[in-house]
Parts: sequence; structure tokens; C-alpha cells
Amino acid sequence: NAFGTDSSRKVIQQLESAGHEAVFVGGSIRDYLLGKDASDIDIATSASPDEVKRVFPHTFDVGIAHGTVLVMMDHEPIEVTTYRTESTYTDHRRPDEVIFVKSLKEDLQRRDFTINALALTLEGELIDPFGGKEDLEKQVIRSVGNASDRFDEDALRMVRAVRFSSVLGFDIEKYTLKAISDYAKMIQHVSVERIKVEMDKLWMGIEPEKALTYIVETGLSEHLPKFPDEVHRLASCAPFTAAAQGWSALMLSGQFTAGEIAAAYKMSNREKAFLTAVQDAFDSRLTGRFTTDHYYRFTFDVLTAAEKVWHAFHPTEYRISEDEMVQNQRELPIRSKDELEVDGRDLMTWTEQRGGRWVGEWMDKIEKAVLYRTCPNDAEKIKGWFLNEYKREK
Ligand code: ATP
Ligand code: MG
Repeated sequence: NAFGTDSSRKVIQQLESAGHEAVFVGGSIRDYLLGKDASDIDIATSASPDEVKRVFPHTFDVGIAHGTVLVMMDHEPIEVTTYRTESTYTDHRRPDEVIFVKSLKEDLQRRDFTINALALTLEGELIDPFGGKEDLEKQVIRSVGNASDRFDEDALRMVRAVRFSSVLGFDIEKYTLKAISDYAKMIQHVSVERIKVEMDKLWMGIEPEKALTYIVETGLSEHLPKFPDEVHRLASCAPFTAAAQGWSALMLSGQFTAGEIAAAYKMSNREKAFLTAVQDAFDSRLTGRFTTDHYYRFTFDVLTAAEKVWHAFHPTEYRISEDEMVQNQRELPIRSKDELEVDGRDLMTWTEQRGGRWVGEWMDKIEKAVLYRTCPNDAEKIKGWFLNEYKREK
């Protein structure tokens, strides 16, 4: 079974026909050797970005400064990156400039870990100058070259190391781990956006506890934004089926607010809203079960995250099962306002009044009445209930 999609193989073929070198590289080779579904396939080539663009009629400049051209092959986008190395790193993050090089080995040398510094030719020959295959077999994460130098160049690699320990369940090699301990403080020079990308993947790994142990052992936890002191509480919530569960566990373990975590990790409004809801649902568990209001306002994913953390913190207390949550949500008379049998126009017709703030306010009351079964969700019944209440208040 040949590696890569038909389109990606064609891209390499055409680059080779034009006299260039081209190979598959990076994480997809690692995953292929591990027998996992390959993530996005990357191609590296000796051709310069201009040369790549001359070979293919349909391309996009997605990251031309870094040497990446997106080639459209049979409607499939394929990333092609020119062999490159990185020049001086003056600020412990990202190189000052990229330098295109002619040899694949130099390109592989700039990569973070041996298991990520693998290339595969179209014929299926593995190019592995740093012993990546052996490290895959040994299940270790090892820096390419001198670990301290590599972390000094780009401190994000330390978080990537622990992220891969979670995703792959691998150990971090002794000297690489020592270097993380020595350079942990440097993580503060890295943008939180880049850290967050890796953390999202860390939460979704098969062994987040392992990564968390490394984070504490190396002292990274002291320099990462808003990391709870009680990391064991956070670890007790693992594994996670969504990154948002990991962030929820982090927030609740450290007794941070949703706003603090969202700000520290520059989260989207959507992510922040999720954490805010989890916090609310979790707090309600302090005094009892989820209420009708929680089942109505919060998604199943929010309740699941809150319950997961609640249970990890209180393992001997009653756990609300997922079935129970599904059942409770299914039994609600309505799932949103849209499901009400009446709308604002009906209120205006019944009362012969113009629209205004009162419409929204009464729709809220109707929503509550239906949700709490004071009134069935039936247009005629709602009309009766509403007119009665409306007159009473006048
Ligand atoms: P995933 O399957 O999670 O995408 P990946 O190995 O493909 O894992 P990416 O972040 O997509 O990880 O990076 C692609 C490749 O680029 C890596 O395999 C590695 O060779 C290289 N790389 C990425 N980030 C760095 C970095 N900070 N320093 C050195 N090399 C890096
Ligand atoms: Mg990738």
C-alpha cells in the first residue's frame, strides 16, 4: 500500500519530472509508521517557491515567506514547502528569517524531534538521518541535535514535547527532558496563541496525565499561563474527549474564572462562553443536581464537561450518567424559544398592540411557563394563559 493520496503522489512525480527533488515529510510519516491514519500530508522539495509555481498551473501563495506553496492537484490542495533551514533566533521564538537550502538533510535537521524528522520518497524509501524510526520503536521523544540549543532557539518545542507525550503516549528521552527543566522559564517568551494550539492537542491525547506529570516535573507549570498548582486534580479528570473538557478541568482545578482562562489563552468568544457555562453548571452541582434551567440552557457537551470534573473531584458521590443527561434533555417541553408554538406577532395580534420591549418580555415569560410546564406548548393554550396573565398585570 503506497503512502500518500493519488494527488500528492502526482505532485511529487511532476516535481521530479521537472528535475527537482521532492519527498513526503513530517508528522504524516511518523503516523504512517505507527500505523495511524496520516494527518495532513506535507511535501518538501529542493525547488524554490518560484520553481514550484512554474511546475503547476494552479497554486496559491499561502506561506510563501516560509517557502510554502499550496498546489491544487485534481481539486485537492497539497502543501509543498521548499527545503529550508532557520537562521538565528534572537528571541527564543520563531527564526528571524528562513533560508532555503538544497539538501533534505538540512531541512530535516531544523525539525524538532527525531520522530518528526523523517522523509519518505515516492518509491517508499525512508530517509531517517537522526534515528527517528528507532525512537518510534522505543517510543521516545528526542530532540534533533542538542536539546538545550533547540529549546533555546524555539521554546515552544518544550510544549510540543509534552504534547507528543500525551498524543503518542511516549516518554521524553532523558537529556531532552533535562533540557526542558533547564529552559522551562523560556516558555514565557512564546505567544499564547502558539501554546494554545499545542495544548488543544495535548488535551485530546491518549495520555494527558503523562504530559501533565512532565509539565510539573520540569517546572513548565510555573511558567505556563494560569496553570493550577493542584495539577493532580486536573490529571484526575483525564482522559478527555474534547479539548474544551481539558480547559474546563484546568479552570476548575485552579479555581480560575472562565474569564481568566479565556483571557490568558486568548480564547474565542465561543470557547469563553463554553467555559462560563461549565462554571455555572459545576457550581450548581455544589448544591445539588442540574436544574431544568441547566438542561435547557446548556448543551450536552457543557453538562458532560461539568459532570466529568465534578465526578473526578467527588468520586464517591452520585454521578449523573450521560444517559440520564440525554434523557433529561429529551424530556424538556422545548429545547429553545424557536420551538414555542407562538411568536411575538401573535402577542401583538391578540392584544391589538404595537410591538415594543413588552413583546420580548412576555415571550420570556411564556418560554418559562412552557419550560416549567405551567402551560403546555400549544398555541391556543398559550393564548389563554397569556391573555389571563396579561390582564392580571394590567
Ligand atoms: P500533527 O499530527 O499534530 O499535525 P505534526 O508533527 O504534523 O503533528 P505540525 O505542528 O503540523 O506537527 O508540524 C509539522 C512538522 O513541522 C513537524 O512534524 C515537525 O517536523 C515540524 N515542526 C513543527 N513545529 C516545529 C517547531 N516549532 N520546531 C521545529 N520543527 C517543527
Ligand atoms: Mg501536522
